[in-house]
Amino acid sequence: SSFTTKIFKPGESAPRGKKLNTKGWLQEAALRMLLNNLDKEVAENPEELVVYGGRGKAARSIQDFQKITQALQDLEDDESLLIQSGSPVARIKTWKNAPRVLIANSNLVGNWANWDHFDELEKKGLMMYGQMTAGSWIYIGSQGIVQGTYETFNEAFHQHYQGKTKGKYVFSAGLGGMGGAQPLAAVLTGACFLGVEVDRKRAEMRVKSKYLDEIYDNIDLAMKSLNNHLENGVAKSIAIIGNVVDILPKLLERKDFKPSLVTDQTSAHDPVYGYIPQGYSMEKVEQLRKENPKLVEKDALVSIAKHVKCLLELKKRGVPTFDYGNNIRAMAKKEGVENAFDIKGFVPEYIRPLFCKGKGPFRFAMLSGDQSDLKKADAALTNLFSDYEDIQRWLKLAPERISVQGLPARILWLGYGDRLKAGLLLNQMVKNGEISCPIVIGRDHLDCGSVASPYRETEAMKDGSDAVADWALLNAFGNIASGASWVSFHHGGGVGMGYSLHAGMVIVADGSDEAAERLKRVLTFDPAMGIFRHADAGYETSQQIAREQMTGEVGVSS
Ligand code: NAD
Repeated sequence: SSFTTKIFKPGESAPRGKKLNTKGWLQEAALRMLLNNLDKEVAENPEELVVYGGRGKAARSIQDFQKITQALQDLEDDESLLIQSGSPVARIKTWKNAPRVLIANSNLVGNWANWDHFDELEKKGLMMYGQMTAGSWIYIGSQGIVQGTYETFNEAFHQHYQGKTKGKYVFSAGLGGMGGAQPLAAVLTGACFLGVEVDRKRAEMRVKSKYLDEIYDNIDLAMKSLNNHLENGVAKSIAIIGNVVDILPKLLERKDFKPSLVTDQTSAHDPVYGYIPQGYSMEKVEQLRKENPKLVEKDALVSIAKHVKCLLELKKRGVPTFDYGNNIRAMAKKEGVENAFDIKGFVPEYIRPLFCKGKGPFRFAMLSGDQSDLKKADAALTNLFSDYEDIQRWLKLAPERISVQGLPARILWLGYGDRLKAGLLLNQMVKNGEISCPIVIGRDHLDCGSVASPYRETEAMKDGSDAVADWALLNAFGNIASGASWVSFHHGGGVGMGYSLHAGMVIVADGSDEAAERLKRVLTFDPAMGIFRHADAGYETSQQIAREQMTGEVGVSS
């Protein structure tokens, strides 16, 4: 085409402000969010296009990244761009209310849905791993998970300690893109945090972004500081640098090691490119991943088995211990730890009651790049949800404690009905100029009606429908039909190849009346999917919401 396009590089910040680089705000939003996913303040490793979660990428290769940015600049208001595992493959004529981008990442036919086959295809340049929000361009840094982690820890403290957090601490490992939210989330509940991270750089990144308070190489010093904080009743977070399989057995021998909650966020879902085996330096693992990935996998699985045995020991000692969505139990079971699933998953334990109300991780980002816009949105939402104590507490804490990474963004767990109210309010604020530029609204794929993941979001469903993925597909179809701005369908996010199928949606509030219509449809349907899914599976809360609140245009079919 004759249109001259600008060349962008992964790692650079997304453009800010009112000036368009594209032919419309929906294309512009996709462009800015792709760049924001890979902003060096946001992504774990932008040079390799890795956003978070092991090797969760935003584009397949540098060439593909550049082709996507060019295609988005060139895309008309009635066209849609098709992305196949991080590569732009076609553009098609659709219409104005259709999504501007349709994304499918890492999807494989069931019998081939494993890491071995995926790795072969990735080597040939035919696929990439999209994780959840990495390949669907709605990652907003560790903040994206921090409220979910906070809700989870909070609920766990309520269930096990009547909500008391003072003098208590969470123990975990892995301070990467998502896991890095744990120290801050624990501190926000009022508890302390002790974590193990093998890669010093990652821990330092968390101190820099104010998610983590202290780093130690020495267990004695770390425990001394932790014990001090516990005695003084102050909430602080501490990381020990080392491999969890070296550190945790040593901690278990100490009389003063008595965590109140235990979990894990190493990238155990990916034993080759995620989990670091015992005895491996960062240099060694990087080299062997290239030269002998099978050996890395074998050693990682041995380490994961040891790791899970330590977690089981803590559980035996009576400490509430839960899997935090990284598939560590299945990996350990593969390696012969038969009772790995004695450890419960976090969704059935703490999150499902929220899913049954259509509650999930609503998030938005300010395309202006202006922090004062975020402030105005926070204030308006605080006002809108004045009856909700948890939202009031969160919207007070979040701006104080969460530093901005990339475009100013916020996460806010909202249920059916409330996501719509929030979306329309934000669109109205753009319309009347209170907020200076359009706002991108989206969510994690980890949501109430968008995932099939039997070891995570759909573990232990009431009717045994854990592995039924039709719901996730219907979620993607419904969002396309309703006019979301981009829609994605992925395989393997969170728990790895063969273990999950899930959909993502993003919608742009550009202040127009057309956007308001689309927002009405999408933000009604998308959380309603959680109600449909859970009502069908026999959850009474969802059936009641369907009966009492879905009297209008949407509802479960009788
Ligand atoms: P990441 O790859 O960015 O970070 C993983 C971290 O674990 C890295 O910092 C790595 O150095 C560290 N690590 C690996 N092996 C270790 C070992 N043996 N000892 C100590 N540290 C070790 O991944 P992430 O984005 O933080 O995600 C972590 C896991 O959680 C993934 O499996 C991901 O799929 C899953 N996840 C969970 C949720 C959720 O809501 N619970 C959401 C997204 C992802």
